[in-house]
Amino acid sequence: MILVFKSGIDESALQNAVATLGSMGLDCQMLDIHEGVMLAVTSDTRSLPNHVFGQLPGVEKVIRIGNRFPLSESASPEPFSFPELNKRLFEPGVPVVIAGPCSVESQGQITRLALQVKQAGASMLRGGAFKPRTSPYDFAGLGKEALEYLKNASAESGLPVVSEVMSAEHVQLAEPFVDVFQIGTRNMYNYELLKEVGRTQKPVLLKRAMSATIDEFLQAAEYIIMSGNNRVILCERGIRTFETRTRNTLDLACVAVLKTLTQLPVIVDPSHGTGKRELVEPMSRAAIACGADGLIIETHDDPSNSISDSGQAITPETLARIVEIAKAIASLLKTSAENSRSDFVNRCPESRSAVG
Ligand code: PEP
Ligand code: MN
Repeated sequence: MILVFKSGIDESALQNAVATLGSMGLDCQMLDIHEGVMLAVTSDTRSLPNHVFGQLPGVEKVIRIGNRFPLSESASPEPFSFPELNKRLFEPGVPVVIAGPCSVESQGQITRLALQVKQAGASMLRGGAFKPRTSPYDFAGLGKEALEYLKNASAESGLPVVSEVMSAEHVQLAEPFVDVFQIGTRNMYNYELLKEVGRTQKPVLLKRAMSATIDEFLQAAEYIIMSGNNRVILCERGIRTFETRTRNTLDLACVAVLKTLTQLPVIVDPSHGTGKRELVEPMSRAAIACGADGLIIETHDDPSNSISDSGQAITPETLARIVEIAKAIASLLKTSAENSRSDFVNRCPESRSAVG
């Protein structure tokens, strides 16, 4: 960390700052350069907030040199395995497709859909029990009853389930029934909720807030990992822009950027990202092509009669096509990455041991 001092700072103020840092157990080194005076704090300052330094008399600016997302960057999460269901997800080169209705509507509906999406090649079931609705007059989900239906559908199909939680109370209620907690777009900034799911042992599917920058998105992931849970799945689900032809603007560049910043799996939600069923298939293809590790897709066996988000639901038949194409694209990308890697090793034999 670098502390930049106001110009004309006198020697005694500088010595005071050095002494204060010393009393905090921090080592530092004076940098007397042409433009002014700076202190390089050479100890680890990651756990100390910026104001601790910014409030030292004479300090003008605090510059952090290190990564702002230390946990998300270095987290190589525990395997996403679900031993009870004998399932392991996010293996390299195999796209994970999560599918199911926006809302759980009945036991019959969710069990039927679980079997249909499994048949179509999905590897996880989704379904909302607690629905965050923009209008308080819209269907808000069946709550606890839906969690029980999801658990039964999981037992019947062998698919793990993901469902959204909106409060600490929901986390406690849902824990025995779901395999993955979903944090929706409206709650990405709910830091107490992030800490709460971070204290559990279940993976967390974290959706990007509709107005969040990529940095804010990763900072939200930091909260979860910092609380003890590194199994975070990042989900791009579209952001708010001036465009009105689509429900949101699906920011696929975010996927490619995240891939340079973190090893956490990144998935895409083309359903909320577009709001239109006819756009789900092309954007699913694009998502896998730009490096996403998976997709979460709202699927219904009677899409136009889906209680919520009917305009974006696709049928299990369309889902089957998407799964097939997603697998083909992912395998093409894997082969091409392997080829360019071996090509590189052939051209530069000395790199063999470095590349491994
Ligand atoms: C959902 O997945 O049903 C949902 C409400 O998503 P989002 O939080 O992205 O709007
Ligand atoms: Mn929905």
